Amino acid sequence: MKLKVRIAGIIPDSLTNGIGIRTVIFAQGCKHHCKDCHNPHTWDFKDGYEMEIDELYEIVKNNKLIKGVTLSGGDPFEQEDSFYVLCRRLKRLGLDIWCYTGYTFEKIKDSKLIGAIDVLVDGKFEINNTFNAKKFTGSANQRIIDVKKSVESRKIIEVGV
Ligand code: SF4
Repeated sequence: MKLKVRIAGIIPDSLTNGIGIRTVIFAQGCKHHCKDCHNPHTWDFKDGYEMEIDELYEIVKNNKLIKGVTLSGGDPFEQEDSFYVLCRRLKRLGLDIWCYTGYTFEKIKDSKLIGAIDVLVDGKFEINNTFNAKKFTGSANQRIIDVKKSVESRKIIEVGV
């Protein structure tokens, strides 16, 4: 059986979802329901559309402009098995992987998908905490985490942006 993910959409070339030109894949389905979320249409797990991992892989592979891929949402961690397979394949193309999630790093640090991600932007969007939000984040609680360094050193190491 072909492995699939349910997504809300794709932006082929983005400069605002991580460092460099990136393809953004928006996962469909989110349990966090942050107040004033910018993408509430991505909450419903039955909405959006399914795509095969193979199809997504080919779309990204044929885009010669990009430095990497960003998973956004929705929450990609709700479909982590499929996204894990996709990300492992994309990394073999030399692409780096960023991922946005409503979960904190501490909550998902032992998950499967985290092992295929280079940079994690973590935590829920807090509408009352947007002042002082860093570039590439929505609110000041969210961190831009270097996953490999953080796992190795057992403390949060953030990426400078
Ligand atoms: S985690 Fe992201 S997609 Fe989910 S409700 Fe919060 S801001 Fe919206």
